[in-house]
Amino acid sequence: MTCRQLGGPCELPLQGNTANDVIKAQDQHLKEMVAGGDVTHSAALKDMKARWRRPVAGMGWYRKAKRNFAALPED
Ligand SMILES: [Zn+2]
Repeated sequence: MTCRQLGGPCELPLQGNTANDVIKAQDQHLKEMVAGGDVTHSAALKDMKARWRRPVAGMGWYRKAKRNFAALPED
C-alpha cells in the first residue's frame, strides 16, 4: 500500500506482512515526515492521531484499510 492509500499525501510504498504492520509503518512515516518539517503530512498525522483517540470512529477506517490490504496482490 502507499502513503496515499492510507490518507497521506505522497506515493511512498509501505511494506508489511499484515494490515496492522502497514498501518504502523504509515504512522511512523507520518511522524518522521512531520518531524522533518514536511507540512503536507501534518493533516494526515492529525487524522491518524484522532483515529487512535476515538477507536470506535476509527474502526471503520481501519477495516477499510484492512480490506484494501487484503485486496492487494502478493508480492
Ligand atoms: Zn507520505
